[in-house]
Amino acid sequence: MIPVQWDRRIRRATELASTYPFASEGLRFYARIATFQKNMYAEVQRALGDSSKIPASRPLRDELDFFLLLPHFSPFLAVVKQIAPAPMAEAAARLAQKGPAGWQQAIEEFWQGEPGLSGAANISGLGETDDRNSSEEISSDRLLAWIFLQPYAEYLAGHRELTVVDGTPSTCPLCGGKPIVGVLRSEGDGAKKSLICMLCAHEWNFRRIYCPACGEEREPQMAFYSAPEIAHVRVDVCDTCHTYLKSIDLTKTGLAVPVVDELATIPLDLWAREHGYEKLQINLLGT
Ligand SMILES: [Zn+2]
Ligand SMILES: [Zn+2]
Repeated sequence: MIPVQWDRRIRRATELASTYPFASEGLRFYARIATFQKNMYAEVQRALGDSSKIPASRPLRDELDFFLLLPHFSPFLAVVKQIAPAPMAEAAARLAQKGPAGWQQAIEEFWQGEPGLSGAANISGLGETDDRNSSEEISSDRLLAWIFLQPYAEYLAGHRELTVVDGTPSTCPLCGGKPIVGVLRSEGDGAKKSLICMLCAHEWNFRRIYCPACGEEREPQMAFYSAPEIAHVRVDVCDTCHTYLKSIDLTKTGLAVPVVDELATIPLDLWAREHGYEKLQINLLGT
């Protein structure tokens, strides 16, 4: 059975597309990408099965099954070409031209490299960033490989023996990926914080006041901002390294799906960038 999270993401994206008109184009695109990812997850599950567990001692990114993945890459690029805004569609067309050797290289470079995409990018054509020059910093191949590999990574993360994690690491304890969004859930009288991995979607506990980019833990340096019209999403900023990451406050609305609500709240990204903060990890819309 395919885990329910895919349908939940697709449904939430469709809902929010009508609630937040400024994000509707991006969310509709995301809903179609997530539909591809859901099907991809099903393919991975069919090929690798549902029973055996990967030993916790084996690093998640030691796995990379080209035999399974590669046949799906060209269809993936075809979907992106069809549904993505112009810059990303063109990037997919360029990568499609490179053939299997080029596809394998793109997948391998992302999987084996430093897992993270930072800086302002506008490769999707949806990110409302005004910093066009830095879009070159992001390789479009990396962005495409990331989107393609997410369901595979998520399958691997969900089929591992449980890992005992020491402390509160700033990157994913399973795959080393950067956090893409924070989550606040109620606990006792307050809320506990966790982070969600950009690649494998694993969620791990984190400290309330601690910068995942530089380790700052002094309270005056760590602040958060929110806007009344999007009260359940806040921008956690660090005034030491000028990095930010959004957190979704599930104590304010249980309906939110963190990775989707993160995509939808573009005005908060604009606010943060106007105030000199750089995002710890861009999302798949390049925002
Ligand atoms: Zn991860
Ligand atoms: Zn910091």
